[in-house]
Amino acid sequence: MTTDNKQNLIGLDRGELVVALAAIGEKPFRAKQLWHWIYFQGETDFANMTTIAKTMQGKLAEHFVVGRPNISECQTSKDTSRKWLFKFSDGNEAETVFIPEEDRGALCLSSQVGCTLTCTFCHTGTQTLVRNLTPEEIVGQLMVARDTYDEWPSPKEARMLSNIVLMGMGEPLFNYDNVAKAVKIIMDGDGISISKRRITLSTSGVVPEIRKCGAELGVNLAISLHAVSDELRDRIMPINKKYPLKELLQACREYPGASNARRITFEYIMLKGVNDSPADAHQLVRMIKGIPAKFNLIPFNKWPGAEFESSDSKTIARFSEILNDGGYSAPIRVPRGRDILAACGQLRSASERQRKSRLKARIAAGIEDDDHSAA
Ligand code: SAH
Ligand code: SF4
Repeated sequence: MTTDNKQNLIGLDRGELVVALAAIGEKPFRAKQLWHWIYFQGETDFANMTTIAKTMQGKLAEHFVVGRPNISECQTSKDTSRKWLFKFSDGNEAETVFIPEEDRGALCLSSQVGCTLTCTFCHTGTQTLVRNLTPEEIVGQLMVARDTYDEWPSPKEARMLSNIVLMGMGEPLFNYDNVAKAVKIIMDGDGISISKRRITLSTSGVVPEIRKCGAELGVNLAISLHAVSDELRDRIMPINKKYPLKELLQACREYPGASNARRITFEYIMLKGVNDSPADAHQLVRMIKGIPAKFNLIPFNKWPGAEFESSDSKTIARFSEILNDGGYSAPIRVPRGRDILAACGQLRSASERQRKSRLKARIAAGIEDDDHSAA
C-alpha cells in the first residue's frame, strides 16, 4: 500500500524488502540495516536512522515511508484494558485490544475486517463487510501498540506487550498467507522478536490450515470448540459442517510441538441451557483424551440481538470442576474491557453503532447515503 505514492515498508518480509531496495539501486545489506531501524528501534523517520548516510536517508524518504495505520479511536477501560479502532486507507476498520496484567499483557490482533463465518454467538460474524487484512495492517496494529506503551527499542525482557493472541476480528486461518507473513515478521529475532511460545492463534477449526500453521509457524494453538456434538456444533458454528469434530480433534492430536508443557487451549463459550450441562463437561473430558490440552471457559458476552445468554456462575463453576477432576486446567475467563465493548465477541459493535447513528443523522438531514463503507 502506498502513501503519496510512496511504498510503506511495514509488512514486507526480508526478501521483499531486498527487492524494494534493489528497485532503487540499493544492495541487500541495506535491507538488514533498515530491518533493525524499523523493527528493533521502532523508528519511523529516515532522518533519525543515524547509521545511514544523510544522502541515503533522503533517497529512502523519496521512495518509501515507515507508516502506521490511522487510529480513529483509542479507548481505555476502567479495568485498564485498551482498544484501538483503526481506519485503513480504503476506509475499512478493525479493532485491536490490549489486556494488561501486572507486569505483562496480551495484545489481541485482528486478522480480517469482519468474518465470513457466521457463528451464531459472535457479533463479528454478523458483519456483512469482509476483507482480509494485509501483513502491513496486521503488523501495523502491533507497531501502534508498541508506540503507545513506549516499547522501543524492542525490549528482550520485562515487556508489557509480552504476548500476542490472534483472537480479534476474523478467522486467521482464512487469511493464512498474510497472517503467516505477519507472524514471521513479529517473531524475527533481529526485530520485534516475540517468540512463537508467546503467540497464540485462535481458530474455529480450519483443519488443513491447522496443519500448515503447525508445520510453518509452530505458534500455540487455541481451538474454539464450544460444543461436544456435531449436531450442536453444526448449528452454532457452520464451519463444523465442513470440518467435523472428529477431523478437528485429529488435527489437534497431530499438532507439532503440542506437549504437556505446551498444551492446546480449547476455548469453550458458556451458553445457558445450550452446552453447559454436567453431561457436556463429562463428554468433553472423554473426547479430548490423549490431547495435551487445557480449557478456557468463556462466559458469553452479550451483544444487541444475540439469541443466547451466559450460563450462571454456579453452572460455570460446576463445569470447570468436572474438567479439573478429569485432569484438565479450566480457568474461567474474566471478561475484560466490557465497558468499552472490547471483550470477546463484542468487537466492532461500537464502530458499527456509530456508523449507523451517523447514517440516521444523514437520512434525517435529507442527505443521501454515499458512505460506501456503511455496513
Ligand atoms: N475466528 C477465530 C478467532 C476470533 S474469535 C475463532 O473463532 O477462534 C475469538 C474468540 O471469541 C473465539 O473463541 C470465539 O468463539 C469467542 N467469541 C465469539 N463471540 C463471543 C461472545 N459473544 N462471547 C464470548 N466469546 C465469544
Ligand atoms: Fe468468525 Fe471466530 Fe466469530 Fe466464528 S467466532 S464468526 S470464526 S470471528
